[in-house]
Amino acid sequence: MDTTVIIGNGVAGTNAAATLRKNGYEGAIKLIGDEVALPYQRPPLSKTWLREPGRPSPTPIRPLSFFQDNRIELMRARRVVSIDRAARDILFSDGNTMKFDTLILATGASPRRLDMQGDLKGIHYLRGLGDSAGLRQALACADCRDVVIIGAGVIGLEVASAAVDLGKTVTVIESAARAMARVASPATTNFVTRKLTDAGVKFLFNQKVKGFGTAGDHVSTVNLGDGTEVKADLVFAGIGATPNVKLAQAAGLECDNGICVDQDMRTSDPKIFAIGDCARSDNKFAAGKLRIETVHNAITQAQVAAAAICNMESPAPVPPRFWSDLKDMKVQAVGIAAGYDLVRSDASQNPLSLEVHLTRGERLVATETVNLPNRQSILAKAISPTV
Ligand code: FAD
Ligand code: NAP
Repeated sequence: MDTTVIIGNGVAGTNAAATLRKNGYEGAIKLIGDEVALPYQRPPLSKTWLREPGRPSPTPIRPLSFFQDNRIELMRARRVVSIDRAARDILFSDGNTMKFDTLILATGASPRRLDMQGDLKGIHYLRGLGDSAGLRQALACADCRDVVIIGAGVIGLEVASAAVDLGKTVTVIESAARAMARVASPATTNFVTRKLTDAGVKFLFNQKVKGFGTAGDHVSTVNLGDGTEVKADLVFAGIGATPNVKLAQAAGLECDNGICVDQDMRTSDPKIFAIGDCARSDNKFAAGKLRIETVHNAITQAQVAAAAICNMESPAPVPPRFWSDLKDMKVQAVGIAAGYDLVRSDASQNPLSLEVHLTRGERLVATETVNLPNRQSILAKAISPTV
């Protein structure tokens, strides 16, 4: 019997398994992950998880019964350490091996670490359940008053938003000139930054972190390039994510800021696919290759790979999208906020909302909204591929 092995049981890997079955794939499906928990959604970890009273529980991507009912062998707490492409097998950290006919790499990404020697207590990163639980616990401490966020990306702003809700004094330090520069236009990020500033968050842009002051083995200040020292009981670093490509690289697959894949999510080995945060591909909604780090992208790429494995027609391309919850703002974006030459925006303070159109010539490239979920789905239909 044909066997598809999937390494990584996050939203990309789990959706690949589910879509293979939906497409009628009859072979064995082995879904492997190194985490203990049932595959879970990451978005709540930087949002509700940090705020809600009581002990939060993870939101499963699918219930356990789904895997059993669909003959998907879910292998948890198992780490794959290498791929032997010639033998068509993988090696686990416990020394066992497993054969595959088709392999899907859905290994995700890891938080970029601060450039510093050794570890200091009080510095947090966030990717998984344990990180979120640790951050939540630290934020709940009565002597945690001054919180410094390094990086004004989406994750930094979500943690800043939760921390200010919890009554902390929050400072965000960003090396770029504005927030969320990688994913949204200045029209949207300026709107969001202003609202978060009104809520009490202090932003320091164009600032580099030079080092840290300490009290014993705990961080006490974040020291900036211009000599400023910002008091810190807790530091959260949200400075980007790097793709988990070690397995692919060691197996000789082509990698360049992600595992390189074609339009079917095939790597440089035709029997090996890569999807989700770890994969980099051409995108029909932007010029050039992209590695997109969103839930929507992980699900879309899982569907594309599953169609190719089942020799089915690829699903029609859909523009990328993401959302974020920041204070009382539901931020949503569709399309890629790059390569546009005109920005049109319409803001309202009461009720609070924003609609932004990014166009290039006649083409609508991307839209961004705040608190207008119904508009988003209508606008999304107006975004067309570049080619
Ligand atoms: P992952 O979810 O990272 O899953 C990969 C899995 O593979 C992991 O469990 C990893 O441990 C495992 N793995 C890796 N290597 C191995 C190995 N060798 N052996 C076994 N297992 C392995 N996106 C949005 O669109 N909206 C949001 O609001 C949003 N919020 C987010 C909040 C947080 C805190 C985080 C961290 C991310 C958020 N994202 C959000 C991004 C989104 O969660 C990711 O894009 C998505 O999880 C990517 O899915 P993935 O399956 O590619 O990777
Ligand atoms: P990000 O979007 O890459 O943002 C990181 C920000 O930190 C960038 O603006 C970066 O600026 C800045 N930065 C980098 N090094 C710095 C330094 N030393 N000092 C100050 N600023 C620095 O990534 P992220 O927000 O950290 O997100 C991490 C991952 O979580 C991503 O995969 C993301 O998609 C995911 N996530 C997504 C959501 C969502 O979609 N709602 C929510 C949470 C998490 P430069 O670009 O100039 O380096």
